[in-house]
Amino acid sequence: MLKIFNTLTKEKEIFKPINKNKVNLYVCGVTVYDFCHIGHGRTFVAFDMIVRYLRLCGFQVKYVRNITDIDDKIIFKSIKEKININTLTTNMIDAMHKDFSLLGIFPPDEEPRVTDYIDDIIKIIIKLINNQHAYMNKHGDVFFSINSCDNYGILSGQSLKSLQSGCRIPLNNTKANPLDFLLWKASKKGEYYWNSPWGKGRPGWHIECSAINNVFFKNSIDIHGGGSDLLFPHHENERAQSACLNNKFIVNYWMHTGVVITNNQKMSKSLGNIFLLKEVLKNYNSEVLRYFFLSTHYRHPIYYSEKNLQQAYVSLKYLYTSLSNTKPFPNIEEGMNFEFEFYNAMNDDFNTPKVFSIFFKIARKINFFKKKDILKANKFAFRLQSLGNFLGFLSQTPEDFLQKKHILEESMFQRIEKLIQKRNIARNSKLWKEADDIRKKLTSLDVVLEDLPDKTIWRKK
Ligand SMILES: [Zn+2]
Repeated sequence: MLKIFNTLTKEKEIFKPINKNKVNLYVCGVTVYDFCHIGHGRTFVAFDMIVRYLRLCGFQVKYVRNITDIDDKIIFKSIKEKININTLTTNMIDAMHKDFSLLGIFPPDEEPRVTDYIDDIIKIIIKLINNQHAYMNKHGDVFFSINSCDNYGILSGQSLKSLQSGCRIPLNNTKANPLDFLLWKASKKGEYYWNSPWGKGRPGWHIECSAINNVFFKNSIDIHGGGSDLLFPHHENERAQSACLNNKFIVNYWMHTGVVITNNQKMSKSLGNIFLLKEVLKNYNSEVLRYFFLSTHYRHPIYYSEKNLQQAYVSLKYLYTSLSNTKPFPNIEEGMNFEFEFYNAMNDDFNTPKVFSIFFKIARKINFFKKKDILKANKFAFRLQSLGNFLGFLSQTPEDFLQKKHILEESMFQRIEKLIQKRNIARNSKLWKEADDIRKKLTSLDVVLEDLPDKTIWRKK
């Protein structure tokens, strides 16, 4: 029985979808003004793992992940780099898709771009104004009225009183309550805009998710997710808007992923400690990065460092090495207990670190049987490979992974292959000194050789 930690109740709850085995799942997507960093990787790999598992359990998942393609940061960047907004966002979306696909993140079922839903956003703002949940100021900005909403703060566990006491009132305040937030922002001269009943402007950030949820799910959602930095104010505001729009609005489970820590600090643009996915993926196999993300429970902070990435590499290397020289053999006998352990761990709020420890247990079995009973080893290899595949691992051949083929320059790969060929010719001609010199050269290139009766295999150190 699957249990999910719900941010709203702060408890692990038994998962029950609203409609039998159908699951409506919404995750707040990327604001596309720059390349994706490891914080995005962490969050979207986590939800990819969650969607994969729900599907494995037989749920029909409808996964919607929006793209915020209009926002202050996008406007600033387009002005700064003198680039058209559409060109900027299209380029960043293409780059995001490339990074995510490398990381083994399956595309969502729907990936709505906010700018395609401006009419829907305007419609719900009109409704909020008509129901006295929103108002316009003298500049043409529209705000959501916090005081009109019951239970504001319930999701992030804060009372309205404590939120208000910590809130500074800005100069030229035009809001009824300093916590009121923008639904529609009037455009300045020359800025990107859409026409609306309140003049030229563009939507605020929070309202876009309420509008898109309304379009795709009629505000009836099983799981709503995002990074923990979105809990307040984004998700709190989204919940408030949606609840005021529709008193039947439901999100049954709110899920949040933990932050990324680098050099003992939370990773953030302002601190300049951002690592881009595309840069990290130049030096590490994508499965290594994925393994690193899932080796910590999705709700906990994750500590990003070269050392921890290396650790992830060493762990995956162990699993791939156990699979090398095996022929995974489908069966239902060997390792069924591990399969049960796998489901138990995943049912416990997606406990992927536990799952990895199970992968290690199976790898040890394979190693144990490899020299004694190869058929048995092959059967365990099948178990390891299939469970790994469910979560997006062990999908490469052991040779490709261990030779670092995905990150090695083609010219280096060719050079290594040629040296091995030359060494084999020298060995066949009993030119031992020459063969040994070539081996030394290969060692200096971090290549480890293994001579089998019929061939020589190699891997990177
Ligand atoms: Zn959102």
